[in-house]
Amino acid sequence: MLPTEPRIGVHLPLGGGMVRAVERAAEIGATAIQVFADNPATWHRRAAPPRELPAFRAALDHHGIGPVAIHAAYLVNLAGDDHEFAARSAAVLEAELNAAPGYGASIVNVHTGSHRETSVADGIQRLARSVADVLRRVEDGPGSAILVLENSAGGGWAVGTSTTDLARIADAAARLGVPEQRLGFCLDTAHAWGAGVHMHRADAIDRFLDDFDRRIGLGRLRLVHLNDSKAGRGSHQDRHEHLGAGRIGAAGLGHLLRDPRLRGIPFIAETPGMDVGYDAINVARARAMLAGLPLEPLPPEAFEITGSRSRAAAPDADVELPIAEDARGPVGDGATKRAGGRGTRPMAARRAAP
Ligand SMILES: [Zn+2]
Ligand SMILES: [Zn+2]
Repeated sequence: MLPTEPRIGVHLPLGGGMVRAVERAAEIGATAIQVFADNPATWHRRAAPPRELPAFRAALDHHGIGPVAIHAAYLVNLAGDDHEFAARSAAVLEAELNAAPGYGASIVNVHTGSHRETSVADGIQRLARSVADVLRRVEDGPGSAILVLENSAGGGWAVGTSTTDLARIADAAARLGVPEQRLGFCLDTAHAWGAGVHMHRADAIDRFLDDFDRRIGLGRLRLVHLNDSKAGRGSHQDRHEHLGAGRIGAAGLGHLLRDPRLRGIPFIAETPGMDVGYDAINVARARAMLAGLPLEPLPPEAFEITGSRSRAAAPDADVELPIAEDARGPVGDGATKRAGGRGTRPMAARRAAP
């Protein structure tokens, strides 16, 4: 039996402590989360798992938060023609999949990548081969995560921009023997919008999902990245905005949230200012959109957030955990402070890490 409403969560920074992040998720009413298992902007992978992992899993359990998704490093590109880059990418993705059970994560999400000025068809073949190789090397057991490929907005010689591309990737992977239950897909609403889908209209969303179902199967859609967009439809740009406050708007995002076919999968917001109080605001906005309620206008400073420490992963095992709430994360510049608990007004975000 499907639940009566979907799990709704946010991408949360772990730089201030892993248990603290779960407590924050519980405070803001998130029922699912996404995290980085490591610094998303470097090739370097931590030597040992963070020491807080058992406490993190216990806290998730205690608060009933899940599923947990790990967002793989941004650097990963499995679709390009540079062999060394592809090999490093595959190694990083393999590390993310191997790390997932420790985080209690059932999903590892990765971008479909860029064919680097070759061709979409070649990029798709390389991506499928790489996915097949990585999944062969990663143990498939009861606690292992599914790999999900996230649709692209279409900038920078992207593959995976349309349902057609995604279906070709699914077919190519199947031909290489990748089992369906190990490879799924993630729909990022801002990326679909950037790729040209009319995500602001209920009828267009229905058509998009019907088409996805016919060509790939909605059962393979395992994650939604619920983001509004600052960019124009079809612009191929990827600029996330607070929910219901961007160019897509509440009607489209609310319609997607209410689709009964998507009840079983988590909706994760990757919106600005997660570290300065907008995590709570965007979870509340998602819940209001789900219920079809009107949204409160956001203050002008909400639209001036230029970066976020939410990229921070957990501190390395060999680094003392920060005690102070505003302790510097491994990625952040320490210039932004975490907002406090529920009801705290978001602070104006200063310049943070890129
Ligand atoms: Zn996304
Ligand atoms: Zn994006």
